[in-house]
Amino acid sequence: MIFYGMPVFENIAVFQGDLFMVVLKFGGTSVGSPEAIRKLIGILGDSEHAGKVRVVVVSALSGVTDSLIGLARQAAEGEVARAALKTLEERHRKISHAFLAGTERQETDAAIKASFAELSRTLDGIGILRELSPRSFDYVMSFGERLSAALLAHICTAQGVQAEYLDARPLVLTDGNYGSARYQGDESYSRIRSYLKKHPALQIATGFIGSNAEGHTTTLGRGGSDLSAAIFGAAMGAKCVEIWTDVDGILTADPKLVKTAFKIDSLSYNEAMELSHFGAKVLHPPTVRPALEKGIPIVIRNTFNPPGGGTRIADDADPGNYPIRGISSMGNVTLVRVQGSGMVGMTGFSARLFGALARKGISIILITQASSEYSICVVVAPQDGPLAAAVIGEEFEREIASGAIEAPAVMEDLAIIAVVGSNMEHTTGISGKVFHALGRNGINVVAIAQGSSEINISAVIGAQDVAKALNAIHEAFFLAGVRTVNLFLIGIGNIGGTLLDQITSHKETLADQYKIRINLVGVANSSRMIFNPAGLEPKKIRGVLSSGDIKQGSAGTELLPLTLPEFIRKMKSFNLPTTAFCDCTANPDVAAVYAEILQAAIPVVTPNKRANSGSLDYYKTITGYSRDRGIPYLYETTVCAGLPVISVLRDLALSGDKVRRIEAVLSGTLSFIFNNFDGSKTFSALVREAKAKGYTEPDPRDDLNAMDAARKALILARECGMSLEFPAVAIEPILPPSCFKANGVEAFFTELEKADADFEKRRLEAAKEGKVLRYVSIIEEGSARLSLRAESPGSPFLSLVDSDNIVVITTDRYSKLPMVIKGPGAGAQVTAGGVFADILRIARTLV
Ligand code: ASP
Ligand code: MG
Repeated sequence: MIFYGMPVFENIAVFQGDLFMVVLKFGGTSVGSPEAIRKLIGILGDSEHAGKVRVVVVSALSGVTDSLIGLARQAAEGEVARAALKTLEERHRKISHAFLAGTERQETDAAIKASFAELSRTLDGIGILRELSPRSFDYVMSFGERLSAALLAHICTAQGVQAEYLDARPLVLTDGNYGSARYQGDESYSRIRSYLKKHPALQIATGFIGSNAEGHTTTLGRGGSDLSAAIFGAAMGAKCVEIWTDVDGILTADPKLVKTAFKIDSLSYNEAMELSHFGAKVLHPPTVRPALEKGIPIVIRNTFNPPGGGTRIADDADPGNYPIRGISSMGNVTLVRVQGSGMVGMTGFSARLFGALARKGISIILITQASSEYSICVVVAPQDGPLAAAVIGEEFEREIASGAIEAPAVMEDLAIIAVVGSNMEHTTGISGKVFHALGRNGINVVAIAQGSSEINISAVIGAQDVAKALNAIHEAFFLAGVRTVNLFLIGIGNIGGTLLDQITSHKETLADQYKIRINLVGVANSSRMIFNPAGLEPKKIRGVLSSGDIKQGSAGTELLPLTLPEFIRKMKSFNLPTTAFCDCTANPDVAAVYAEILQAAIPVVTPNKRANSGSLDYYKTITGYSRDRGIPYLYETTVCAGLPVISVLRDLALSGDKVRRIEAVLSGTLSFIFNNFDGSKTFSALVREAKAKGYTEPDPRDDLNAMDAARKALILARECGMSLEFPAVAIEPILPPSCFKANGVEAFFTELEKADADFEKRRLEAAKEGKVLRYVSIIEEGSARLSLRAESPGSPFLSLVDSDNIVVITTDRYSKLPMVIKGPGAGAQVTAGGVFADILRIARTLV
């Protein structure tokens, strides 16, 4: 470890002036076009940099190193690609012409021409010999940086920034390991210092290249210009080294996968190492080590957005406001697992395992071994998977033959995600949060590794889940407060349509005050479905679905004919974090797919009674999935619309109370009819009035048969733990059988009128004792029944008005006086409101 102040003292005598100077490095895209070069010159002249830049290190123009590699390889096959060579020369000349004129242009053109003549001769030589030695290969590659640095020095000078071309080969001393030569720090530093002492002008230096003791050209490995910049910075004891590239810096996650990823302002060298190992290809941290060893910060900045500020890598990095720094991922890996009882307690096993892999040059990305010592997993690059398994198989041939261990198992199509940050050290709850985020999104974790430095937690998951995992974890750590629910809605009739309106009108309040965002991803009516993972506009959906016409300006939106399996397949395939499925139909077929949806770890919200009042088996299956796997299944609105009945029953049970009896009026229609049956009208006239007011189904018998109330009673009974099937619910008929035989609604009313006298008789009998008639569901002692009862004065049922529902709950604790829940139990607004509340509950509990 080098003491922080040391470079300062070491350099003071030599280079006092350079202590406040910076080294800038510009990558290939930052010198790859005239526009980029204009930006570069702007940066050198801006108030932050003017007079403070000592050395500019440049890469070859973007793509040039690759072209040179191609040319060299082709030459080795005996073919010199003249046309490609010409194109390359032309590219450099075009850049020169964009900035230079007159004699400057002529001189530069001549220099470019001379370089290409030399390159061409070199390639010819390779072609004749048909041999590409590592030494000539490096020599060929060196042209890229030499051309760009020389060109840039001319351009800068012509643009008023006095600069000199610096061929860094004689200064950067390396070993003879061509292709990835190792630099020799002390000697290089002193050469650089004495050179700079004699050359006070701004130096435009070649990145990537050096030379060995014999003076032969070497390269520092692909991407080696960063290393060159770090070497210059270290030599000078520079104030900092700025690496200018084409992105804003290191981000919290891959922005291609996580839209909300944002720039990390500062991080430590170790964090940068961990993060860039998989994800951020912005910087290859080992290449900037020389600077960091001397305590010189590295700043990554965007040539195309200088005010962006960049990412600063330094060991005194501010700890920041978040418990983690970022999340990186590696998209495609293979896991090889070795296990068997023969491994337990066997020393030298892992040494043999790793030795065998190392001998074949297989790099291990991640290792896990549980303390049982029963199995070891290694994760390798996908192309190494089969070889790794074969090598392990060979190494342990005897043990496998004897059955002491099993043949290695290979699992493909996996990915690694890594959560990184120094703040994780000694902070509890981080891994809890990580794995909670994975778990609630149904992401299976195959293996986990955490180094004892506690700065990286890595998890191996299925490759298809990477985006979802990154987003879920990113949201959990960085967007604390903002929770997004990705909603899929099927059914946009009365309730679903109202729900869309409510989402629209409540959107801003939700976002501002509660930091909840409903992202509507998929919606279906009875014939079409529409999707957009980036979010649909709730206001427009009904129009689009009914017309079948997507208006312009909806990029990424897909409109298809509805099929339920395809709707579900789509919903699963988007694989978005915190997804919710909402069924606003009354359709049994939709109810039948809840199990599949819950199994895919997607929460279900529904006002549709069909699932919970269908077979007991199915009810148990879906509520079981929900309970065992923690995937919300919310159906508050299946009973009494938005009134809190299910949630209250659940809270009572959770807190250890026991429900003894529920008495309830569960049908709004029947409530209206009996609440108003006071003798002023006949019963049939009242039913007609209810129908006219829209309180009944088109055929009022669909309400008067009490089926709907019975389904709700069944749901409540099951909620109280009773194992009942629908036929077990005893329904006292309200209407005489003749009413059901009548053909058509009018014929029904004619029949009903015949029963008016009977109804009136029953009413009068009750009234004599001050009682009124109510159609009540009673759930107690393992049974559920519905009956027309005469209620005494003082009963909560007497206070019912209009079409109110009421649920009266008697429990161990609420024994003297029952708990009463009363209010409108139907209607689009209150039902949609209840559905909305359930959706928001998912946001609140899951994220
Ligand atoms: N031009 C070299 C490469 O592409 C070095 C660099 O750009 O850093 O690898
Ligand atoms: Mg590069």
